Amino acid sequence: MTKFASILDAIGKTPVVKVGKLAPPDRNVYVKIEAFNPLGSVKDRLALAVIEAAEKSGQLRPGQTVIEATSGNTGIGLAMVCAQKGYPLVVTMAESFSVERRKLMRFLGARVVLTPAKDRGSGMVAKAVELAEKNGWFLTRQFENEANADYHEKTTGREIINDFAGERLDFWVTGYGTGGTLSGVSRVLRRERPHTKIIVAEPDVAPLLTEGGVQPRRPDGSASESHRAWKPHPIQGWTPDFIPLVAQEAIDRERIDRVVKISGADSIAWSRRLAREEGIFVGISAGGTFAAAVEVARESPPGTTLLAMLPDTGERYLSTPLFDGIGSDMNEEEKALSESTPGYRL
Ligand code: PMP
Repeated sequence: MTKFASILDAIGKTPVVKVGKLAPPDRNVYVKIEAFNPLGSVKDRLALAVIEAAEKSGQLRPGQTVIEATSGNTGIGLAMVCAQKGYPLVVTMAESFSVERRKLMRFLGARVVLTPAKDRGSGMVAKAVELAEKNGWFLTRQFENEANADYHEKTTGREIINDFAGERLDFWVTGYGTGGTLSGVSRVLRRERPHTKIIVAEPDVAPLLTEGGVQPRRPDGSASESHRAWKPHPIQGWTPDFIPLVAQEAIDRERIDRVVKISGADSIAWSRRLAREEGIFVGISAGGTFAAAVEVARESPPGTTLLAMLPDTGERYLSTPLFDGIGSDMNEEEKALSESTPGYRL
C-alpha cells in the first residue's frame, strides 16, 4: 500500500534487506531497517501503540497532556503521534542524550525537560512521574506498558513471519531498550518459528542480562533501583540502568537463547561500515546489533540465515561519537581536488 489516510498508517511494514559484502561468506544476513518509519525509528511503533491503547481504555482523554521519560526516539515518535492526534506532549530526558533529539521533539511541538546526567535513566523517569502526578497528565510508561510488546507482537513479529514464510530463519538478533521489540517479537517466534534462536545483544560495560540477578521493582512494576552491573555506555537506546518490566517477560519465559556482549567502539565501527560498504545509514545500536549478528554468523555453518533489527537512522547522531572525524570543512584531499581545476575555488 502506498496511499495512506494519515501519517500514522505509514508506521511499520519496514523493509528487510539482504546485506552483501559485510556478511561472512555463504551466510545470509538480513537486516530489518526501522529507520523507514516516518520519524526514523522503531519507537514510532511504540508511540502509536501506547496512545491508541490509552484512548481505547479511556485513560487518555481528548486534549489531555501526554508525558514520557525518553532517551529520544520514543519522544520523537510520540511527538509525531501527539501532533497528528492533537495531544500536547511533555518529554523528560537526561541531558546526556544527543541534542538533535531535543530539537526534533521541539520542532514537532513537544516541550522537553532535561534532567541531570548523574541521575541516569531512573532520574528522568522519576521526573516524569512527578510532573504527571502534579498536573494530572497521562504518563505512557514505556518500560511497563503492556501495549508496547503487544504492538510488536501484532506488527513487527507478524512482518518477520510473513517475510520469512517458507524460508530458513536460524537466528533473530536484537538489542533491548524497553524490551518491547524483544518481548513482542519473541512471543511470535516461539509460537510459530520455534527453531529460530533468539540472540540478544547488550553493552559489554552494562551486561545486565549476562550478570542476571533479580531487578527490584515497585508494586507498579517499575524498577526501584539501578542494576549493579550497569555503567554508562554510548549505545543510546540500549540497556537502561535497570531491567524494564517489558523486557522481563522474555527473560522469565526463557525466550533468550544467547546473550552477546558488544562494545561501544564495535557498535560505532559497524554502523560506519554499514553506511560506507552497504549504503545502509543507521544508528549506533543498529551497529551493535549487526556486530552481534556477524559474530553469530561467523560461528555458524554455511547456509545459516540471520535477521538483525536496525532500530534507527544515523541522522540522529550528528553530534555524537558516531560522526567523530567527519568534518564540515574541506579536508586536504578535498582541497586538492578543489585546486585541481581553475574555476570556482573557495
Ligand atoms: N535502539 C534505539 C536507538 C532505540 O531508541 C531503542 C528504543 N529505546 C532500542 C534500540 C530498543 O528498542 P526496544 O525499546 O523495543 O527494546
